[in-house]
Amino acid sequence: MRKPLMAGNWKMNKTISEAVSVIKALKSAFADVEDVEILLCPTFTTLYAVSNEVKDSNINIGAQNLFWETKGAFTGEISPVMIKDAGCSYVLVGHSERRQYFGETDETVNKKTRAALVNGLGPVVCIGETLKEREDGVTFKVIEKQIREGLAGLATEQAALVVIAYEPVWAIGTGKTATPDQAQEVHAFIRKVYAQMYKDAVDKVRILYGGSVNSGNVSDLMKKPDIDGGLVGGASLEAESFIKLVKYFK
Ligand code: PEP
Repeated sequence: MRKPLMAGNWKMNKTISEAVSVIKALKSAFADVEDVEILLCPTFTTLYAVSNEVKDSNINIGAQNLFWETKGAFTGEISPVMIKDAGCSYVLVGHSERRQYFGETDETVNKKTRAALVNGLGPVVCIGETLKEREDGVTFKVIEKQIREGLAGLATEQAALVVIAYEPVWAIGTGKTATPDQAQEVHAFIRKVYAQMYKDAVDKVRILYGGSVNSGNVSDLMKKPDIDGGLVGGASLEAESFIKLVKYFK
C-alpha cells in the first residue's frame, strides 16, 4: 500500500548552521524509522549543506518552490535542474503562502508540477480552501478546480509520483486543525476527482494533510483511510517536536 510521508516545511526560517544542527539531531533520531518516509524542505540557501548532511540516511530533502524553465534569463529564479543538483528529491508546489503572496495560480502550479516531474523531482502539490470559501460552501468546487487545472495533462506514471497536500488555508499556522472527519471528507473527494483523471495512478498517489499538525493530533488524522501523511510547518522547526510527530506510531 502507500507508504506514509511526513514532510516538514521550514518556510523562511534557519541559517545554514541552524538548519544543519537540526538535521544532525533528526538524522540520528530517525535512523530506526522504516515505516514512514521522511522529508524536510528547508530554504534554498541551506539545501546543499543539508543534503550533504543527510547522505546515507533515510531523510529526503526538498525545495519549497521552483521555476519551470531549466536555465536562462530569469533573474532570481531557481530551476528544477539546480534543485536536483543541490541534492533534492522533492519540491513543494503552490503552497498557499505562494498563492497568497506571490501570485501563484493553478496555471503556474501546472507548469511547475510538470517541470518537476520531467526533471526527476517529486512534486508535493498544495491545495486548499480559505476560511471564506469554506463558509460560503464552495470548498469542493475550489478543490476540484485546483486539482483539475493544477494537475492536468500528466502521463499515468507521472500522475502516480505526485504527492498532493490538502492544506485548508484557515488551518495553516493558526493552531486550528481540521478534525480527522473534516480532513478525511476532503481527502476522499480529492481521491475521487483524481481517479476520474488518472484511474491507473490513483491508488498510488499520496494525499497529505497539512494545517497545524502536531504530535498530539497526528495519530487520529493518520487513522483515516485517505490520509497518507502530513505536511508540517511549525512543529517541524524544532528537532524534538518533529521527532515525536514522525514517531507517532510508536
Ligand atoms: C505548512 O507550512 O504547510 C503548514 C501546514 O504549517 P503549520 O503546520 O504551521 O500549520
